[in-house]
Amino acid sequence: MRNSALFEKWGLFKKGMDAKGIQLSFASHIEYSLSKDQYTATMRDLYQSLALTARDRIIERWIQTQQMYHEHDVKRIYYLSAEYLMGRVLTTNLINLGMYDETKKAMDELHVELANLVEMEPDMGLGNGGLGRLAACFLDSMATLELPAHGYGIRYEFGIFDQVIKNLRQTEHPENWLKYTNPWEIARPEYSYTVRYYGKVEEDNESNTSIRKNKWIDTSDVLGIAYDTPIAGYGNNTVNTLRLWAARASKEFNLEYFQHGDYLKAVEEKNISENISKVLYPNDEIFEGKELRLKQQYFFVSCSIQDIIRRYLIQHNNFDQFPEKVVIQMNDTHPSLAVAELMRILLDVHSLGWKKAWDITSRTCAYTNHTLLSEALEKWPVNMFKNLLPRHLQIIYEINRRFLREVSTICIGDENKIRRMSLIEEGNEQKIRMAHLAIVGSHSVNGVAELHTKLLRETVLKDFDEMFPGKFTNKTNGITPRRWLLAANPDLSRLISKNIGTDWITNLNRLRDLEPLSEDPQFRKKWQKVKQINKEIFTSLASGITGLLLDPDSIFDFQVKRIHEYKRQLLNILHVIYCWLKIKKGIDTNIHPRTFIFGGKAAPGYFIAKLIIRLICHTAKVLNNDKSTNSLLQVLFIPNYRVSLAERIFPAADVSEQISTAGYEASGTSNMKFALNGAMTIGTLDGANIEIMEEVGKENIFIFGLSAQEVVDMRHSYDPKTFYHNDPILKKTIDLIKDNFFSPEDHDLFMPLIDNLLNQDPYLVLADFESYHQAQNQVNELYQNQDEWTRKAILNVARIGKFSSDRTISEYNNDIWKVSPLKIIQEERLPR
Ligand SMILES: *Cc1c(COP(=O)(O)O)cnc(C)c1O
Repeated sequence: MRNSALFEKWGLFKKGMDAKGIQLSFASHIEYSLSKDQYTATMRDLYQSLALTARDRIIERWIQTQQMYHEHDVKRIYYLSAEYLMGRVLTTNLINLGMYDETKKAMDELHVELANLVEMEPDMGLGNGGLGRLAACFLDSMATLELPAHGYGIRYEFGIFDQVIKNLRQTEHPENWLKYTNPWEIARPEYSYTVRYYGKVEEDNESNTSIRKNKWIDTSDVLGIAYDTPIAGYGNNTVNTLRLWAARASKEFNLEYFQHGDYLKAVEEKNISENISKVLYPNDEIFEGKELRLKQQYFFVSCSIQDIIRRYLIQHNNFDQFPEKVVIQMNDTHPSLAVAELMRILLDVHSLGWKKAWDITSRTCAYTNHTLLSEALEKWPVNMFKNLLPRHLQIIYEINRRFLREVSTICIGDENKIRRMSLIEEGNEQKIRMAHLAIVGSHSVNGVAELHTKLLRETVLKDFDEMFPGKFTNKTNGITPRRWLLAANPDLSRLISKNIGTDWITNLNRLRDLEPLSEDPQFRKKWQKVKQINKEIFTSLASGITGLLLDPDSIFDFQVKRIHEYKRQLLNILHVIYCWLKIKKGIDTNIHPRTFIFGGKAAPGYFIAKLIIRLICHTAKVLNNDKSTNSLLQVLFIPNYRVSLAERIFPAADVSEQISTAGYEASGTSNMKFALNGAMTIGTLDGANIEIMEEVGKENIFIFGLSAQEVVDMRHSYDPKTFYHNDPILKKTIDLIKDNFFSPEDHDLFMPLIDNLLNQDPYLVLADFESYHQAQNQVNELYQNQDEWTRKAILNVARIGKFSSDRTISEYNNDIWKVSPLKIIQEERLPR
């Protein structure tokens, strides 16, 4: 639509950013958007109105940003991720737009408590854990660095389940985040694409062999509808787009049944196709080979690739410039079908030859590997895949044929190597190795921490690293300081800014200016005061949720993350029981009171992880009721760990538990959030812990346990029973659990844990136990010297700047994306 008169008038005005202007919009939205008055408006209505007030102001900048991207025909970053763990967005949007203080003032004048409105927003929980949260931090950093970027994903109707602890165990409840409508999203039914499934491929025998346009016919079709969420940068006018796809039944699909007069069947089929975007799979780092999951992946990949090509072709009439204008970053293998889908569209729709299509595809795509765990690797059974995506299977076979031909020319006759590198795993059931597809189809492959990248290159991807020198790089993860310090910990942010200014917000290395202040007794006192207040805030939150009253003078020791055997929550809870026994026996005196706090969801089908939660809850019940010890030691499992809860946890933490078996945690990011908020880390030489140690200094972190190499060396000869027999208190700890001391009403409840621990102990819990206990003793000792503790905590914050996601994104951009930032100039408009 080109109506200059209309647009000139329309674009004349801008929304006021001062308290007055905010109040006007706020009142207007209550009345005209929600149709409420002073009698009927609920807190939720007030939240919705404030969100719409912020959204109006974002939209002005959003439109301007997208216009300028178009006018400058910029190269764009397309970040493809099956998960975005955004959390709440009201506060960070107000902060990033620079209107937080005026909004606070506006609400104060109306006697509305802003903090209470913020609490009305449901978490946008479209992710499981670290991988999804990383995508959310990256969106913030890309917008803040003024990079033209689009996030693409799935608009799950139900995000990660709500965890309720009932009868000392996890129960899962659907989390209906869209129930009261989502004020941040804008539906764009005009951007909808057809996604095809099943059917068959008709060979093209007409054209010559170099250009074969095979026809994929008799498919079942689903529509993808775009829902856009604006992503505002901090302190600039950039507003990027997170575009999430929702599945809708396609008209064509229903018509067939209508024509046969089967109305109910048609409606039923409509439901089936809309199931595709219904629910997030709640597995973190566990592959579940369900067809619906494969449908989800292809669904969002196909919509996204079609959308990317549509946008490119507005300004180009061939694909020659495609890799110069488009880069597709795949967050793990979940979107790795992008390689096959881009090939399919270039070959079958746009009639490019294989070589040209392959050159464009591999120069456009890039892949981030997130794990070394074999159970997490995505391998789709060929039979399932062939049924759902027959044309893509043909393309993958052809990619593999050409790739293996290349492999065999460089290692003549090495059949083992060819078998190892093939995109197809042979065996009882043939499977497609999605990681191999992603590697072969990309010009860049990266790991997410130094150790992780090194292990990738030396072990599971060694063959590929040798074949493609230079293709593998490291991009150590990061977190956004806007959410994880500025918004989550306002008191600490104020203290920091008062002393060193505000540059740290966009240049986190400036926190180094805090180093000299670590020696200033007055500054330390203020620092301690902030931590104490944050601990008190958490104490009242925790008592409201669980009824347990914590001691804010005790050490707040947190392990919050998904429950996983490799993350070793079991090591932590065994050690808690061990300490309790030592206190009871009068062995350990001089213990500073400590509160051990656990949080995290277990995948609903992960039996052992759910049993670990039960052990923590049963232990907490017994220990917290022991009057002889509960002034020194308390245990809490805080339910439903999620982004909005995490924002209350990090500021209140004294100790951060990062205790995975070395070599198993790819990076970790909660280790960074804790350190940024002045917690001391107790951790293994794993993932980004190593780089945190290098930055903060090894005298300012508690490192324990076997190294990744020692873990590998130990495996051959490891017998967990020797550790069990050599430490009588450790033996007693395990025997108590085995003998149902913590589960008198449920005999042998924890036998699967104990059996596994004494016979296999695959994550070397017992091998690291002694070393862990010693490190914990050092924590106990240091805490009792509050001056020294605080000095070290300040140094942790001062030296954590490397772990800003701004640094991570700059590295991606310099090494892989090579996109120019574009400063968005806001048009002159009259105030309204
Ligand atoms: C940061 C974060 C994670 C990742 O935690 P790790 O300890 O690095 O696994 C998971 N969930 C939430 C809600 C987070 O904020």
